[in-house]
Amino acid sequence: MNPNMAANSFNQVLIGLGSNLEDPIKQVQKAIEVISKHPMIELKAKSSLYRSSPQGPQDQEDFINAVILIETPLRPLELLRETQAIENRFGRVKTRHWGERIIDLDILFFNDEEIFEETPSLTIPHPYALERDFVLIPALEIAPDFQLPDATALKSYRASCHSYNLQRIR
Ligand code: AMP
Repeated sequence: MNPNMAANSFNQVLIGLGSNLEDPIKQVQKAIEVISKHPMIELKAKSSLYRSSPQGPQDQEDFINAVILIETPLRPLELLRETQAIENRFGRVKTRHWGERIIDLDILFFNDEEIFEETPSLTIPHPYALERDFVLIPALEIAPDFQLPDATALKSYRASCHSYNLQRIR
């Protein structure tokens, strides 16, 4: 049995949130609230909020980040459709690569599964999940024992990520 799988056999998923536009603390809090009210999603844990430096163009505001742990019967592409619908509802507009955004929802880990879909594009684990402190540190706060596809736990990656001047804010 999948080590992350809950007793009800729902999928356990870590989602990363980020925002650097229009009162980003409020946007991240609002997105967590919207996700928690989704009829097919149960919010199990949420990290603190963090502030991080932008990873792409530097002429933009700092980001606010958080990670949540959810349970859901949705399969990965179904969940992606829901997270993208929420991004769209927030009025997310594509600007430049790694540019400013009102909300970004990344599916970081889905049980201990590896998933690669081309259309629509979906790669799980999220390609940079273990390399960015603004993802790894909040994820470790809420799910240090989360099992990865290589059968290690998330906490074994603690020291291996790139720093984006992460500050815990609340
Ligand atoms: P971004 O601009 O970083 O939000 O990237 C959005 C695109 O990444 C969308 O086209 C998604 O289909 C794709 N994508 C690939 N893997 C993932 C993932 N694990 N979580 C969310 N979006 C993903």
